[in-house]
Amino acid sequence: MTQRLQQVTILGATGSIGSSTLDVIRRHPDRFRIFALTAQRRREELLALCTEFRPACAVMADPRDALWLADQLRQQGLSTEVLSGEEGLCTVAAASEVDTVMAAIVGAAGLPSAFAAARAGKRVLLANKEALVMAGSIFTDAVHASGATLLPIDSEHNAIFQCLPGNFQRQTDNSAQQHGIRRLILTASGGPFRTAPLSSLHDVTPEQACAHPNWSMGQKISVDSATMMNKGLEVIEAHWLFGLPPTQIDVVIHPQSVVHSMVEYCDGSVLAQMGQPDMRTPIANALSHPERIDAGVASLNLPKLATLTFEAPDFARFPCLKLAYDALEAGPSVATVLNAANEICVAAFLERRIGFLAIAETIDRVLHQIPQQQQENLQHVLEIDAAARALTRRHLGLQTP
Ligand code: NAD
Ligand code: MG
Repeated sequence: MTQRLQQVTILGATGSIGSSTLDVIRRHPDRFRIFALTAQRRREELLALCTEFRPACAVMADPRDALWLADQLRQQGLSTEVLSGEEGLCTVAAASEVDTVMAAIVGAAGLPSAFAAARAGKRVLLANKEALVMAGSIFTDAVHASGATLLPIDSEHNAIFQCLPGNFQRQTDNSAQQHGIRRLILTASGGPFRTAPLSSLHDVTPEQACAHPNWSMGQKISVDSATMMNKGLEVIEAHWLFGLPPTQIDVVIHPQSVVHSMVEYCDGSVLAQMGQPDMRTPIANALSHPERIDAGVASLNLPKLATLTFEAPDFARFPCLKLAYDALEAGPSVATVLNAANEICVAAFLERRIGFLAIAETIDRVLHQIPQQQQENLQHVLEIDAAARALTRRHLGLQTP
């Protein structure tokens, strides 16, 4: 069967998710064509990717890097147009030639471009969970209004998406009830400190926090996995993607990371999606949905795995998970503050300016100081984000950049 090539923009092409996406796309030149690739800093890496994939556009964060890249590409005889900054990201996310946008920039920096893709009615493959944590209501409204398709890349949410009925509609308020869904069960590995003595957490280093037992990921999400803020952000993400209240979104620790998440129905059935802990599976699933394509992922060897275990999360060990549940209950702007404070604290921890335990302590203090407010539009979300960042920096004694 001949099919039209899907034109794909990858926001964050040099990152962990960006690389896995390109790995899947490389296997299917008959299905996908790269329209645009973007990167923040690694200009040589983006040059190599442009040489290989020959996109129509490339975007670098800094205009000087963009000039350098344009010059290099011209010397190679390539006609790739090079843009820069947030405006460039939004342009390649919304361009009329584009069918699919992989939103894989990390943190709040990825929100405006992911939002631009949603508003332009694209097929949005969302890895950037922070976008939904900050602006879930506005984002899902934009998807609805433009007729965009929102497909989750986070392995847990992609697993849930696969376990839901094909005609599940998030936008219908009582969709979960109509389909007999009792609860969503997000699995969490528990990260590198699941069994470490609580007294040892005071002194852990960024290297130890980033050494995830099962997944290889970018630094920010690796630290989030160690604090379990990642799972907290994912509870909020699940709320906006699937429309269930926090009381129907549970977290269970599953150290083997083989069951990627589950949906429980009112008849007692629990559907799980399983597989290797390899992001190419959810990426391939979303790229080709509703079809299936090879992702280069090996089969599960169940006899070799032998045992799958589950345990309840401990809020004393993982206070960030509790902070996120509370933020979701408190209202959308509180989740924006949670996310902003977390991004500042994680960056400070990675730069060895604060200890591991100070991450949760500082976020808690910041949350107590900023009251819940209305979030009407994207600009308003970005203002709340900026205020929360400034307050967190003041708490940590850091200079405003
Ligand atoms: P990463 O740090 O490996 O890559 C981030 C990418 O974003 C890079 O290409 C970088 O150049 C770009 N970027 C960073 N800051 C930018 C800025 N200010 N402006 C423009 N571009 C910028 O991160 P990652 O692990 O690939 O994660 C990306 C997103 O996917 C995150 O939101 C993360 O939570 C989510 N996610 C990742 C994984 C995983 O396995 N890595 C799994 C689930 C969800
Ligand atoms: Mg995840």
